[in-house]
Amino acid sequence: MAILVVGSVAFDSIETPSGKAERCLGGAATYFSLAASYFTDVRVIAVVGEDFTSEEENVLKRRGVDTRGIEHRSGKSFFWRGSYLQNLNEAQTHETQLNVFETFSPKIPADYADSEFLFLANIDPVLQANVRSQMPRVRLVCGDTMNYWINDHRENLEKVLKGLDGLLINDGEAKLLAKDANLVRAAEKILSSGPKSLVVKHGEYGATAFFSDRMFPGETKSVSVPFRAPALPLSEVVDPTGAGDSFAGGFFGYLASQKDVTPAAFKRAMFYGGVMGSFAVERFGTERLQALTREEIDQRFGLFRELSHLD
Ligand code: AMP
Repeated sequence: MAILVVGSVAFDSIETPSGKAERCLGGAATYFSLAASYFTDVRVIAVVGEDFTSEEENVLKRRGVDTRGIEHRSGKSFFWRGSYLQNLNEAQTHETQLNVFETFSPKIPADYADSEFLFLANIDPVLQANVRSQMPRVRLVCGDTMNYWINDHRENLEKVLKGLDGLLINDGEAKLLAKDANLVRAAEKILSSGPKSLVVKHGEYGATAFFSDRMFPGETKSVSVPFRAPALPLSEVVDPTGAGDSFAGGFFGYLASQKDVTPAAFKRAMFYGGVMGSFAVERFGTERLQALTREEIDQRFGLFRELSHLD
């Protein structure tokens, strides 16, 4: 089943303990699309400036991602500068330039209308809501956000949250959104404000899903307690940028490739999310996600199973 994703397509300048990368291809929708492309068809809605050339677009096209929904405008693409010098699990943002995203009005190509899965990747919640309203008949809608939008665009974000089947955010964002330092209480508050399920990403420690009883009606037993999926302990994290979006791409891509969205498929999808996140951090930018094979992905899925297997 095809996924439609809206989110940032960007250039990133990144500094980590392993080194620096200037203006590499990034953006939430970029990482998401590359990760999801190993599981199903992906269509992107975004806007880029003149600095985004066929070289960058081909990175997506080579993975079969449909880029007809990427609008080219005069001006500069979204730009983000961040570092991870204190803590590899948390980016320090030094600069965010929305550029062409500031005046973006998404237009969904007619050929995208039959997409059954919609992912609202990290971008202005006004744009997320706009795309959501143009896709009223989708089967499943999940989304992401970050402190930038939680802090200064809360009212708009809250409207988006009400329409989500699943929200995927990290620990810090969940606590900030709920204004509660305890994760379990934060999850309860977030679920009562809209999303039917919540996936909290813990960086190198995995991810936890919390379910409201609206997510899988009649399936109370398997979703009455949270579900935790591991992350793979890695000897070197080169660049954590995009790990969260790659997690989301693996998670949603796998779900969209399944016949039904069941609790079991949701839980397996969390493992695939962890797998794609673990690949993303092995190199700077999107490099590692550009040339994986399904065999490598499934082999690593096996490792994740072993990691948390109990006889
Ligand atoms: P993450 O998966 O959380 O590491 O996301 C990293 C990506 O988010 C980078 O490639 C950035 O270009 C993108 N990004 C950073 N800030 C924002 C923002 N305010 N809105 C949308 N995307 C952003």
